[in-house]
Amino acid sequence: MSDRGVLVVTGGSRGIGAATARLAAVAGYAVLVNYAENASAAEVVANAIRADGGRAETVRGDVGTQEGVAAIFASADRMGRLAVLVNNAGVVDHPARVADMSWARLDRMFRINTLGSIACAREAVRRLSTAQGGKGGAIVNVSSAAAKLGSPDQYVDYASAKGAIDTFTVGLAKEVAAEGIRVCAVRPGIIDTEIHASGGLPDRVRDMTPGLPMRRPGTAEEVARAILWLASDEASYSTGAILDVSGARAVLP
Ligand code: NAP
Repeated sequence: MSDRGVLVVTGGSRGIGAATARLAAVAGYAVLVNYAENASAAEVVANAIRADGGRAETVRGDVGTQEGVAAIFASADRMGRLAVLVNNAGVVDHPARVADMSWARLDRMFRINTLGSIACAREAVRRLSTAQGGKGGAIVNVSSAAAKLGSPDQYVDYASAKGAIDTFTVGLAKEVAAEGIRVCAVRPGIIDTEIHASGGLPDRVRDMTPGLPMRRPGTAEEVARAILWLASDEASYSTGAILDVSGARAVLP
């Protein structure tokens, strides 16, 4: 397998992150699989990569805390030269109107989905920037179609936290474009993962499928393929780019 350096995927233990970890290993990256709680799920992903002859480690760390972010990058540093950060970890909450949202909910939503991604990107830039002795690399943020839809009566807070990721992607891309770092994002639509159940809607994918333009949800692998392409040299002139992976859901600005 070729040595492309280390790819860190936050929230790599399940869903889109797990698919990204598996495809990244096939592409020749040494993969750091981050998770928050579910150590056994992370080990399943890492063990599958190792069984196929790839390199993978796991690290527990809540991206919504300074300690968590520090733990992730300490592990990444032990693995070798950072090449790619995939800011994938994210959470939703139960459907609610803004008028009913608690401070604790808003704090969690923005701490994990927005601050966590920005703090991880900060650590990546410090390691990748050619202006700071690095060799360059890529950051791929995982936004959401919700950033465009706004998600009224469901989770405007989540949509807003992802909207901030879109703006962050554009701003950071411009800031580090001359330092060998590309910064892109994907905006997934309805993807069949466990995140919907975690938001109290286990049947959300099934219920929404008839109304989706392609009459089916996306798979985690379909999003992962877009992430890996944006991270690769094939996308060498794409930076500040935000790719809809939504089966035509929410493709208007
Ligand atoms: P998922 O199946 O619920 O998996 C979430 C992953 O994130 C798990 O590995 C989880 O780790 C990890 N995680 C959660 N909170 C974390 C934290 N504070 N620190 C570190 N890791 C944390 O989610 P998914 O559907 O794959 O979503 C991945 C990303 O895609 C998210 O950013 C989400 O907002 C975005 N997205 C998803 C969809 C969709 O329809 N699925 C659509 C648009 C955007 P544990 O296993 O330890 O809990």
